[in-house]
Amino acid sequence: MKEEPIRIKWTDIPQTPSLLQSVNYYLQKAFAGLDYSEEQSTQSIRERLLEPDSVIERKISLQMDDGTVIALKAFRAQHNNDLGIYKGGLRWDTGVDRDEVVALSSLMTWKCALANIPFGGGKGGIAVNPNKLSRLERERLAKAYMRTFYDVLGPEKDVLAPDMGTNAEIMAWMFKRYTEMKEDSIIPAIVTGKPVELFGSKGRKEATGYGCIYAASYFTDISLKKVVVQGCGNVGMHAALLAYSLGAKVVGLIDPFLFQGAIYKEAGFNIPKLHKAVDEYKIAEFFEDKDFRILPTDELLGMPSDILVCAARENVINMHNWGNLNTKMIVEGANGPLTPYAYKELYNAGVLIIPDVIANSGGVTVSYFEWIQNLNQDYWEEETVLNRLKKKMAKNLKNLSEYAAEKKVDMRSACYMIALERVYKARQLMGAQ
Ligand code: NAD
Repeated sequence: MKEEPIRIKWTDIPQTPSLLQSVNYYLQKAFAGLDYSEEQSTQSIRERLLEPDSVIERKISLQMDDGTVIALKAFRAQHNNDLGIYKGGLRWDTGVDRDEVVALSSLMTWKCALANIPFGGGKGGIAVNPNKLSRLERERLAKAYMRTFYDVLGPEKDVLAPDMGTNAEIMAWMFKRYTEMKEDSIIPAIVTGKPVELFGSKGRKEATGYGCIYAASYFTDISLKKVVVQGCGNVGMHAALLAYSLGAKVVGLIDPFLFQGAIYKEAGFNIPKLHKAVDEYKIAEFFEDKDFRILPTDELLGMPSDILVCAARENVINMHNWGNLNTKMIVEGANGPLTPYAYKELYNAGVLIIPDVIANSGGVTVSYFEWIQNLNQDYWEEETVLNRLKKKMAKNLKNLSEYAAEKKVDMRSACYMIALERVYKARQLMGAQ
């Protein structure tokens, strides 16, 4: 049993929280750990940081291929820009709502502050199932989003990137619409995560997943380790690819939308081959040899592993299933995959948990690299990008581990405390007027 953090108590843990409740819970906990005074100015900064600077909610009309028009709810949350322009992804998912984008924008504020990159926190979303849209419908929607939120976005104001349900192609369409609206001025820095052929950065596609494995490798030699990956989209698949190439055995993959469940193979999957099959929609062909087992998700989570990469979505490890887990390390590739309750129980059980705000910061770090490359019109080799990312993450993880040890707090509290101190300081320095 680990020592309980001495200065921050686990009180009033929300049992089945929304992502926003979880983020604000961790934030309040960090405030408690920082022992800030109760004077008026501190109180007002605290209240300010618990709420976003603004949330814009607008309707988008999307013309479908059959001529009908549907109305979709779309959002952009701008949480804080004390340390730099608002920055954050665009999510397309049926579950998107105001609270979700606010929570994700707040996470971006803390992630960027912790990563020491000059960005603040933003996040956008559209409540839609992208898998039910044709390619042309997706293009119309991407361009409509840019048109609808044009007034609040900008390369020196608020910059978009891919998130769940969006990708480089969607970024390219939004860049195109922005260019048209700017009377053909070419301003690639309006979005990051673009295709490499269209001002994107080499290494951006891989960055978040690779970053998860760089983070795990900071704490352990991952060769020959058994790895399970939950969520096999951009983040999960690239984490699996790097783990495989470093000699780990990726024994389990969980993704109900790809494999109708979870798949397990004691000897480890050939991840590059699987990746190719997923990319080319030849999944069924790949699995023709049936050299694996299909298991219910919770049963696979119970299979012994050294590292579990949670790269699906929020709240997937919670008070109902945390007890099934049989792993030594959890890397939070997704945003908020563990509820605070599950986090506390697993932490007390001795599992090393690398929190989302550091584990998945590879994405926004290389987005920052892409933004710099766009502004300077000077493009880097993939090796340069990934080496810089690896070095930056190692430095941040070292600083974080030392801080957590010094303050005797768990790693997530340390993340929020470091980030809060930086944002708090910036706000104080700027004065009240
Ligand atoms: P994605 O849409 O490419 O992939 C998500 C995958 O998760 C899909 O294959 C989906 O089928 C699967 N999935 C959904 N629900 C699941 C569940 N309950 N169990 C298992 N699998 C499930 O999205 P992504 O870009 O890989 O993002 C995944 C997570 O990582 C999100 O939380 C996102 O906010 C976070 N994130 C992404 C980036 C990035 O650069 N893409 C950066 C930082 C954080």
